[in-house]
Amino acid sequence: MPKLKRQRTKTLSIKANERSSDFVTPNFIYGCLGGCRNTYCYVMRYNYEHVFINENLEEILTRLELHVAAQPFPKEPNQVDPLYWTYDIGCATDISLHWKHYPWERVFGFFKKHPRAKATFATKYVNEALLAYDPQKKVRIRFSLMPQSISSRLEPNTAPIAERLAALVPFAQAGYEVHLNFSPIVVYEGWLDDYRQLFLQVAAAVPEALREEVKAEAIFLTHNPWQHQRNLERGLQASEALLWKPELQEAKTSQYGSQALRYRIPLKREWIGQWQALHQDLIPWNEIRYIF
Ligand code: SF4
Repeated sequence: MPKLKRQRTKTLSIKANERSSDFVTPNFIYGCLGGCRNTYCYVMRYNYEHVFINENLEEILTRLELHVAAQPFPKEPNQVDPLYWTYDIGCATDISLHWKHYPWERVFGFFKKHPRAKATFATKYVNEALLAYDPQKKVRIRFSLMPQSISSRLEPNTAPIAERLAALVPFAQAGYEVHLNFSPIVVYEGWLDDYRQLFLQVAAAVPEALREEVKAEAIFLTHNPWQHQRNLERGLQASEALLWKPELQEAKTSQYGSQALRYRIPLKREWIGQWQALHQDLIPWNEIRYIF
């Protein structure tokens, strides 16, 4: 079991992202007890043993204040957001899961009040405690989705997909901006049939009035050799059979310099086309902000 460790982080750098957000904040929490920690989670490639709770929250927020102030405003509209500089506050944890360790109202409040900045994070959990807070659309939650049959194998003990979908309306009504995070997209026999079902579930879950707000990002699976080895040593052969396909994968260096395996480019290109065509056919209103 990973150890919870309270500390003051010295890693206060703010990284450019340009996909799910414009920037990534320093970690408020680094590490996670989520159900996907023994399958595909990229955080676990580098920090498996601990969940670090960084207590120098005000120092991080001061850094953020200075960082936003240094950006030109009005911002040039981009796929991330048309108005606000958007910061991912949960790249190395799941905030909905770890909320009790996280002064989340202080962090949400920083962005809610900030005239130039917005916060965002992805989650696989539905935490109704967050519904009592109204961030006035300055916090974007990206609910993570994959077909339930695969989620059951790769994300045990996370919220069922139907529960995540059912959360979209109440979270939007509470004042959150809600997006979809199709991630990771895993290719296996029958994957498009399962995505067809998932897109139909999405269509049923998102009422007309919310469809303009609900945008999406789509990210195909990456994996990693030492993560694969550790998962095998823990007896997780069944999930690894889905994730580890060396005949279909190739090495790559990620945006932040880490080593990973991704689907081979010609295959991936074809699969992206198939996935997008199905998505366009069934839920064309769900604008895809980016896919890779
Ligand atoms: S919820 Fe996110 S951060 Fe946590 S283990 Fe799963 S993928 Fe990793």
